[in-house]
Amino acid sequence: MSVLDPTVPPYTAEEVTPLKPPAGDDLLLHKNLQDGEFWRRIPAYRDIDETTFLDHIWQGKNSVINADRLIATIADLAPPEFIADAREGFKRAPMAVRVSPYIMSLINWEDPYLDPIRTQFIPVASRLEADHPMLTLDSLHEQDDAPVPGLTHRYADKALFLPLNTCPVYCRYCTRSYAVGLDTDEVEKVHLGIDPRRWARAFKYVASRPELEDIVVSGGDTFQLAPRSLEQIGETLLKMPNIRRIRLATKGPAVMPMKILSHAEWTDAVSHLAEMGRKLGKEVVLHTHFSHPNEITAISARAMQVLFERGITVRNQSVLIRGVNDNPETMRVLVKRLGHINVHPYYVYLHDMVKGVEDLRTRLQAALDIEKYVRGATAGFNTPVFVCDAPGGGGKRDVHSFEYYDRENGIAVYIAPSVKPGQMFLYFDPIRDLAPEAQARWADPTLRQEMIQEARRRALSAAQ
Ligand SMILES: *Cc1c(COP(=O)(O)O)cnc(C)c1O
Ligand code: SF4
Repeated sequence: MSVLDPTVPPYTAEEVTPLKPPAGDDLLLHKNLQDGEFWRRIPAYRDIDETTFLDHIWQGKNSVINADRLIATIADLAPPEFIADAREGFKRAPMAVRVSPYIMSLINWEDPYLDPIRTQFIPVASRLEADHPMLTLDSLHEQDDAPVPGLTHRYADKALFLPLNTCPVYCRYCTRSYAVGLDTDEVEKVHLGIDPRRWARAFKYVASRPELEDIVVSGGDTFQLAPRSLEQIGETLLKMPNIRRIRLATKGPAVMPMKILSHAEWTDAVSHLAEMGRKLGKEVVLHTHFSHPNEITAISARAMQVLFERGITVRNQSVLIRGVNDNPETMRVLVKRLGHINVHPYYVYLHDMVKGVEDLRTRLQAALDIEKYVRGATAGFNTPVFVCDAPGGGGKRDVHSFEYYDRENGIAVYIAPSVKPGQMFLYFDPIRDLAPEAQARWADPTLRQEMIQEARRRALSAAQ
């Protein structure tokens, strides 16, 4: 009897011999999103109903911006030694602190030291580490590649526009701590506030460069732009014949997803631009920034569904952060969970060399290992590329593409032939992760220079 005979079912139960054992719960973990009124665990939010919690204005007004607010919010929940430690951390942080009630509610305050979300947003003095000796404030040299303030034109066909310098929350590890957020005790910022005259200079430059096709509107964060300003920026760029693609960058979906549900004008402004772009044959998408699976809740899923129904593509860029997602299984669940809510995992960045957050960096080797584990876990188009944004302005390089990697001394060398031909770009592993002998070499300025010269020499012969 042929299986092509339509009267015969093609398979019977006995014929289906399972080749794989049934999937364990770990393979379904990504679908298990936190739901319900989880915020009521936090003393300050015990009486907050769903309508209030989902109101983005309430979220903004009740964000934690200093140590006193932190204590008032989590009193009796977190261990007292942690609170003292955070108070000191606030004083020493290079970034301003701002944490939304949504994010506060996702932290396990009974064990805040180990919590992956606390680690990203709330500094604690006892965990800070000395900066790497090769570290500078604007390590990506965004200002060197800026023809006008707040517009970085590094790659030939794409540029980064920073219309403002505030965000709905501040990440401790922000690469733009040179500009983003308020001045802190530690750092006085380059000022890139909302300034239509500065924007006009940036637009003029973009219009004058026919090779520019792709603009990243970032910040700060486009969540903070008034809907009218967002439309104005988007429309101005879409009307330029050279521009084909616009990305609106916002951490919003990860830290205040309710805004997409409750700030209709903002969400409508994004839809309007995406639609206007489609009619012109141009792409307008959102780029967001989830870094841990716990940041994705049922609220995030609802918000992303609104954008999905409107046909708005959302891509994600994560940062590889020590103690947050530097573990292959956590990264796999993050990638799967992003796919589950229709967000495309685009990049995972090796942590930039940023001042004051050395405790958050991993070795390049961690990125190489985790990438190997994640690739193959889901659809290829939902698998992020792991990149190193090469210090010194080389741009993003596939982490695996180094010319030379001295694992012993923690020095990786990249080249970027289509970005900055003829130059080498060096990334340095955190010194804490090196063997004691290598740590001693780094302590000696002469040996330090010799190690760096040797790595450059080897990279040069490898590249030839
Ligand atoms: C990241 C970045 C871009 C966009 O790069 P993609 O690899 O296309 O995402 C553009 N300009 C600058 C300065 C950047 O840092
Ligand atoms: S949202 Fe982006 S720009 Fe803002 S603090 Fe975080 S990393 Fe920096």
